Amino acid sequence: MATDFLSQLTGSFATSAAQNPTVAVMEAAYAAAGMNVRYINCEVPPDRLADAVRGAIGMGWLGFNCSIPHKVAILDYLDALAPSAEIIGAVNCVVIDGERLTGENTDGQGFVNALRTLEDPDGTSMVILGAGGAARAIAVESALAGARRITIVNRTRARGAELAELVSSRTPAAAHAVEWMGTYDIPTDTDIIVNATSIGFHPSTSTPDVSGFREGMVAADVVANPPRTEFLQRAEAAGARTLEGLGMLVNQALTNARLWTGRDLDPMVMRRALEDSLEA
Ligand code: NDP
Repeated sequence: MATDFLSQLTGSFATSAAQNPTVAVMEAAYAAAGMNVRYINCEVPPDRLADAVRGAIGMGWLGFNCSIPHKVAILDYLDALAPSAEIIGAVNCVVIDGERLTGENTDGQGFVNALRTLEDPDGTSMVILGAGGAARAIAVESALAGARRITIVNRTRARGAELAELVSSRTPAAAHAVEWMGTYDIPTDTDIIVNATSIGFHPSTSTPDVSGFREGMVAADVVANPPRTEFLQRAEAAGARTLEGLGMLVNQALTNARLWTGRDLDPMVMRRALEDSLEA
């Protein structure tokens, strides 16, 4: 009976941690599945990351997410990297197996799994707006999932060129960069367009200035709050199929839980918890 009182532990290390809704999503999904697993949201400053990692190992945690500012610094503490995390050069999910730590990047996996509900990226031509952390994860994971051509459109030319070079040199996809001069006309042969910038994130009401949405193409937004961004509304009005940032977040959480516990949790429970936390 004593084991009933001993939960298995997962969680997140970040600073600042207070606005991160993942704890609500994970705890709701673990409870709905009847699992005695907890998710602890931890405020961990950069100079405490080593202590936090040792603590998690010492307490037998199953694993943890790491967010800003630890996604690259955590590499120093890992024993192994999943292939996409190695190419991306950043980790947002660590799996602990005894003393052995493996780093994964589930941002991109979450995006590709959500995308597959609408379109298999295999053989497609993609345009990605942005070249930051989210764009990097999405570009690499989509390329590994078979995207044929990836165009990186970014305001800062050098950052876009660096990502295109990474994708071309480390994956089978052909990638090139376009400098974003404020407006962008989506090429007619584009199958999937992704807003992977932070433009449109609440409370901002701005939207990427792009034209050329077409019927049948997929338009995806990484921005999860608000769920129906103006970017997606404009795409939908032109007949495009749309994918919300919420879907990416839920799929990322599903992937994390699968890596830590081996279980598939309920995506609807996760989505409801996320929507409730965004409204709160
Ligand atoms: P970064 O800061 O690493 O990158 C931001 C990107 O947005 C850069 O490419 C930047 O261009 C571009 N950008 C920002 N403002 C403007 C602007 N006014 N005009 C043109 N380009 C602009 O951020 P992340 O990649 O980490 O995050 C981006 C978004 O993705 C955030 O909103 C985040 O919340 C979301 N996200 C969502 C996830 C999900 O699961 N739904 C997961 C991870 C992130 P430049 O290089 O020129 O500065």
